[in-house]
Amino acid sequence: MAKIFCVANQKGGVGKTTTTVNLAAGLAKVGQRVLVVDLDPQGNATMGSGIDKRALELSVYDVLLESASVKEAKQTSEKVGYDVLGANRELAGAEVELVDLERRERRLKGALAAANDDYDFVLIDCPPSLSMLTLNGLCCAHGVVVPMQCEYFALEGLSDLVNTIKQVHANLNADLQIIGLLRVMFDPRITLQNQVSDQLKTHFGDKVFDTVIPRNVRLAEAPSYGLPGVVFDPSSKGAQAFIEFAREMVRRVGSM
Ligand code: ADP
Ligand code: MG
Repeated sequence: MAKIFCVANQKGGVGKTTTTVNLAAGLAKVGQRVLVVDLDPQGNATMGSGIDKRALELSVYDVLLESASVKEAKQTSEKVGYDVLGANRELAGAEVELVDLERRERRLKGALAAANDDYDFVLIDCPPSLSMLTLNGLCCAHGVVVPMQCEYFALEGLSDLVNTIKQVHANLNADLQIIGLLRVMFDPRITLQNQVSDQLKTHFGDKVFDTVIPRNVRLAEAPSYGLPGVVFDPSSKGAQAFIEFAREMVRRVGSM
């Protein structure tokens, strides 16, 4: 039985894709079978896993429109150690095409159910919006991982996401919960970041993951090589933090 997690935050540039691909690579390193689902038409998780989004014959778009199964549309990326259900610009059209269809927010859920036994973890990289695509992700997930930078407006943006998750929980998916807030791009020398980090712990308690991902240039360089930082430079501080985070996720899932 795969455990399914959305990596979501409606802000762009907060580290969703970096978290998705590095957590996936970290989980693969500790022996888990992982599928990454790229739900962002930008296709960054696809490219960052070593798969050329322009060359995809089948993608998550075909899966959402039920013209392909996950098994047919997924790519296996040997270099990174996990499978990818890729995305490219075509996916932007799905938003509109899904509107008139039945079970429009449950398309991904149905498709992933058929691949349940093939994976231990499914990680869904969400677009920076609370759109129909994100809703498809939230409808099939057991939990949401929320990457966030410890900056002044971080908490403000969080309340919209928390409300959406509450609504999905109430109306569409009773399994859904925030599994945790992940502090990313953290710089301990910045006083404000430490203050926001303390606030997060006060408000959200053990919903804040113990692992903190530091700001680390190797994580930012890795995508241009089509690799997660965990594979590109496993000894870097950023990679080590994500491997530790993978272990923390395995422990949390064990107690879910
Ligand atoms: P999102 O998917 O939320 O839009 P990304 O994961 O693409 O965000 O991250 C935004 C930018 O920040 C990218 O250029 C990425 O390489 C960089 N980045 C993400 N996490 C880190 C980190 N821990 N240290 C340094 N750079 C990072
Ligand atoms: Mg992204």
